[in-house]
Order: sequence, then structure tokens, then C-alpha cells
Amino acid sequence: MTDTIDHHQQTIIETALQMAKERLVFGSWGNISLRIDTEKIIITPSGIDYDKMQCEDLVLVDSAGTILAGNQRPSSELPLHLAIYNQRQDVHAIVHTHSIYATSFAIVRQPIPPVVEDLVQIVGGTVEIAEYALPGTDELARNVLVALADRNAVLLANHGVVGVAAEITEALKVCSLVEKTAQSVIFARLLGDVVGLSHRDIETMRTFYCEEYRPRKRDKLTPIEDAGEKTNE
Ligand SMILES: [Zn+2]
Repeated sequence: MTDTIDHHQQTIIETALQMAKERLVFGSWGNISLRIDTEKIIITPSGIDYDKMQCEDLVLVDSAGTILAGNQRPSSELPLHLAIYNQRQDVHAIVHTHSIYATSFAIVRQPIPPVVEDLVQIVGGTVEIAEYALPGTDELARNVLVALADRNAVLLANHGVVGVAAEITEALKVCSLVEKTAQSVIFARLLGDVVGLSHRDIETMRTFYCEEYRPRKRDKLTPIEDAGEKTNE
């Protein structure tokens, strides 16, 4: 079990560094968690910059948020992470970012429309806005559950992005694609009218991604490659 936790801790650190490298967060803002079994979740600590974060800084909690191991305080957004895990049994990793373009949508409180194929495949549709509540509160967690529903990304009003997935590399990819789409839509609106995808095409692409593309891709990967999976198609 210790080896398993060590492996998961290392994966979280690598993901956190990648998240910072992609400029999806600044300083110690944002957070990452990983559900390693039905009763154990590892989450990043509060207030430690990602380039200084060590495996021993990560915090192991149970599904009620009780600290099982770790010397640091867990991220202040722990209630949000726990609420998502309790609601969505398919989710095993959560990445929360403060990226610039997506946060711009969150500030004007406009959802990010499902207008590009990679986004609709990995998110499942529109990136909706969770109603505003103060960070770290149970109210924010409740608002996120409503807006997230069965999709894989949500905007937090005047705050940032939450991406969820079955795997940590995919949860980060969700946040990266939300940011890329937000940037594309802002530029597209400068050029002309944004043309949406039909609901039927979105459903078709999402189903293909979940039922054929992702399982086929996973079959080709070893567990190590899987942990370090990049975004190439
Ligand atoms: Zn935040």
C-alpha cells in the first residue's frame, strides 16, 4: 500500500508541475486531488508553491475529510473535492486551476460554448458556471455540483476552473482544453459569429471518445506510460 501511495504522490507532484508550467495556476493557487480507493483521497496542501512541493507535503484524507497522514493543512478547497467524489463515482481525479482565458468567462459569468471537437469529447458539452460563493465553503461545493452535473468541467464564478476525470492526466487535460477553448472563443468572437455544434454531433463525439477512443488508447499504454500520458492524438 505504501508503494502505491508513493506512486500516486509522485504522479500528483508531476501533474502539479505540469499545471504550473502550462500557466494554468500562479503561485500556490489551484489544487489537485486523487481518489486512490473508496476511502482514501490524496490532496495538495494549502499555501505551498508547486515548484517547492514534496511528496511528504501532500495530505491523505478519508471521504469525510479526516486527515489520515501528512504534516500540512489540506487545500482549503477540500470540501469541493469531497463533494464531487461523493456525487460522481466515475471521478477519481480533480484539478482546479485559475487560468486566464477561462477565468475571463467566469468573471463575465458566461459559459464556454461547446464549439470545438476536442472540448466536447473530453468535457461532454458546455462548460457551465457555478453560482458565486466564497472559496472553501460548502456553498461553493453545492453550487459546483449543480453546474457540473455529469460533465467533466465547470467554471467557478469570478474564480477559475474545475476539471474532473477518471485519471489525473485526463483531469489536467480537461483544464488545458477548457483554457484553449476559452482563448479560441474570445478570438473567434473578434472575427465573427461563433457557429456551434449540434447537440447530436456533440453526443456522437462524446460517445465515441468514451466508448472507443479512450478504451483503445488505454489498451496500448503500460501503467507507466499511462501515468505520463501526454496530449498527442
Ligand atoms: Zn481557486
